[in-house]
Amino acid sequence: MRCYISFLILLLVFMGANSTFGVEKTPAAQIDDSLKIDSSDTEEIPAAAETIQPVYPMSPERSEMLASYSRHRNSWRFLSFFIDVILLVIVLYTGLSGRLRRWAEAISRKKYFVYFFYTMFFFIVMFILGFPVSYYLGFVVEHDYGFSNQTFSEWFVESLKFLGVSFIFAFILISILYWLINKTRHWWLYFAIGMLPFAVLLIIIVPVFVAPLFNKFEPLQNETLAVEMRGLAEKAGIHDPDIFQVNASKQSKKLNAYFTGMFNTKRMVLYDNIIEALSVNELKYVMGHEIGHYKMNHIWKGLMLALVMIFAAAFLADRILPRIIRRNSFRFGFNKLGNIAGLPLLILFMTVFEFFSQPVSNGLSRYFEYQADEFGYRLSEVSVDNARVVFEKLSAYNLSDPEPSPVIEFWFYDHPALSKRIENIQKLNENMPPGV
Ligand SMILES: [Zn+2]
Repeated sequence: MRCYISFLILLLVFMGANSTFGVEKTPAAQIDDSLKIDSSDTEEIPAAAETIQPVYPMSPERSEMLASYSRHRNSWRFLSFFIDVILLVIVLYTGLSGRLRRWAEAISRKKYFVYFFYTMFFFIVMFILGFPVSYYLGFVVEHDYGFSNQTFSEWFVESLKFLGVSFIFAFILISILYWLINKTRHWWLYFAIGMLPFAVLLIIIVPVFVAPLFNKFEPLQNETLAVEMRGLAEKAGIHDPDIFQVNASKQSKKLNAYFTGMFNTKRMVLYDNIIEALSVNELKYVMGHEIGHYKMNHIWKGLMLALVMIFAAAFLADRILPRIIRRNSFRFGFNKLGNIAGLPLLILFMTVFEFFSQPVSNGLSRYFEYQADEFGYRLSEVSVDNARVVFEKLSAYNLSDPEPSPVIEFWFYDHPALSKRIENIQKLNENMPPGV
């Protein structure tokens, strides 16, 4: 599911990474998720989950599960990259992409109709080719480790919805991109600049209009908690934000929360799972952290880096790809960069570029996380133990490895290792006890 939205991912990396409290994203890149022990309806409880053992503190069995989950995820970080690359290479070198364009032209010769149908066919092909992997990672594995609360049909319908939404955004983006490539030699420059308003639009639209397509957002039910949350926001100078709880347990048991705000939309979102798993003080710490991202403009700063990266990637693509196309035009079934059938080649290039540049973006993201952790600690004025328990619960509930290998952390983690986040807060506490 990842590769064909890699354009968007470059942009969304920061929105996704920095606006959520949770650990890093799941390989399936679904919307990040949460935890709940009993299911609200009387539906039957899956056999694996029914040993009603507390998730936190972790039992030895759960620690073992954590180790195995993290080993599994680490190998798939590489595997899914290689699979994305291989699928795109297949689509290109078999001439399939060229054929998709001809099919699109058979429907209409008008340029934007060709773009529309080509993009649609390409998405469908990639969805089908990538299906075994996304089914395995997004459904089988999430069930094996007891995260998923979805039946196959719920999961499948949601994947289709996700496909539809990404198709709409991608079509707009692709139309702009190919219009520029065919219009000017400096398309890479204008494209990078043009990304800014597009990204801002996405940042505004996604939480308000897209997220509710997948989950129900309702006002926070717990009044005491709502008062605390409002107080916290007020203390940070944010007046009257919308505070929502979202039924994330519909999909998954993982914990998360976020705060989004741009212009007039300011919304605090707590997953139902996290409300159940954390105490009021722990939730205050989490929301303090989220508010920290907002107050320190992490979204804007992240966006700036993403734009620089897109600029660099597009510039390199402009220099390198025409040569590759010239050499392979017979096989590819197209002979210039401005041909829509070259889309898989562009995405392939972006996928590889993203893979090798992610230590940079992840490094910045981890730095932001430390800043937000410290901000949250000061703002919420909770005890260092509250903060520590939050990180330990995240590790226990989300099965995230508190001490990954430094190489894995450096390359793939957009949040610092949980053990380091705990250490950081403890150090901060020694240097500056709360209330000073
Ligand atoms: Zn964060």
